[in-house]
Amino acid sequence: MSQSHPIVVQKYGGSSVADVPMLLSVAKRVVATRAAGHRVVVVVSAMGNTTNELLGLARQVSPGPGRRELDMLISVGERITMALLSMAVSDLGVPAVSFTGSQSGIITDENHSAARVIEVRPQRIQQALDDDKVVIVAGFQGVSRSREVTTLGRGGSDTTAVALAAALGAAWCEICSDVDGVYSADPRKVPQARHLDRLSFEEALALFRAGSKVLNAEATAFAAHHGIVLAAVKTEGATRSTRIQPAWPELPSRVAAVTVDAQLELVRPGPDGIDPLLPFLDENQVPVRSLRCDGAIVDRRDFHHRASVTWPAGVTSTPVAVATAAGASCGRLPLLRRGSAALTAAGFTLLGAEADGDRLAWILEPGREDEAELLLHRVLIEQG
Ligand code: ADP
Ligand code: ASP
Ligand code: MG
Repeated sequence: MSQSHPIVVQKYGGSSVADVPMLLSVAKRVVATRAAGHRVVVVVSAMGNTTNELLGLARQVSPGPGRRELDMLISVGERITMALLSMAVSDLGVPAVSFTGSQSGIITDENHSAARVIEVRPQRIQQALDDDKVVIVAGFQGVSRSREVTTLGRGGSDTTAVALAAALGAAWCEICSDVDGVYSADPRKVPQARHLDRLSFEEALALFRAGSKVLNAEATAFAAHHGIVLAAVKTEGATRSTRIQPAWPELPSRVAAVTVDAQLELVRPGPDGIDPLLPFLDENQVPVRSLRCDGAIVDRRDFHHRASVTWPAGVTSTPVAVATAAGASCGRLPLLRRGSAALTAAGFTLLGAEADGDRLAWILEPGREDEAELLLHRVLIEQG
């Protein structure tokens, strides 16, 4: 296979490789992509629930495990998948080789459990492609300049895929999962959710930064920056997908999708205000989702060292849910009012509301999140 054959990066999420029969059918899909004339780089997640199980083991051993060791532990999940998939592809008669994040040249900062990719040096991958191999990479991980294994935050295999697509000049990047694209709400929670054929990068970023788990926000930002078209596709039996790419001139103002994230905490400053809280958040590497003048919204998903952080005197931290509506230029007052009125009428307590650019957001007391998603979908999309 020559260098004129386009490179395709395919990422398979945990639900697509949950067991051996699924892994074997992914191997067939990879081989079929190659047979269609592509050079293929595959990025894999940990099988099924493996990452959560590894985190559970750590919690059984220690109430506040060190972040370095946690990364050593949870980076293992993806390595299991990469080796097994490489064996399966080879057995189908196609030469394959697996690489860890470090071997793939994914260089990150030192921020364990939520590291940022700062450089990709994909020489080994390039060499293996030149040797006519399918390359299988363990997602979700890299190596820091001090040679420590790092992980990229939950859902971070998407970021690995996009970073490699950019570094290799791939024709496109497929994010393969158990759903045939992005919908106007989580289809598991909102039966009326509509399939979206296309999303602009801006809309996608507003949705994924708000915690919608179908795609990783960091990965989307990387794709937007490098102009890489993302396709969200279903691994098995899909007839449609969602393309995420630059905005089309005719893209109308709209609410494209809603999501509610319940894995958050609102950290409010003490009597001295926000200024002393900021260095504390920074020095303790607290995963801050957004900063507000009245506090910080913190993401509990990547806050594995939560138990070892003691808030300064006067600082309070309360669990919250944030409901978000995302879409081209939707951050307008009339829509914010419509959402607020519907939530209040349904008995939700609003702790805050925001509107800007491609986003509307409501901070809610935790509980009844699925109901909030259904309600906002109804008033902002079905009746919109
Ligand atoms: P993977 O394990 O392949 O990374 P994820 O579980 O991270 O897959 O993402 C796919 C899941 O995202 C779907 O099963 C779906 O329930 C959920 N999801 C949440 N919001 C949406 C949405 N707006 N559109 C599609 N899927 C969504
Ligand atoms: N296995 C990691 C997680 O569960 C990374 C990923 O799936 O993208 O978050
Ligand atoms: Mg995912």
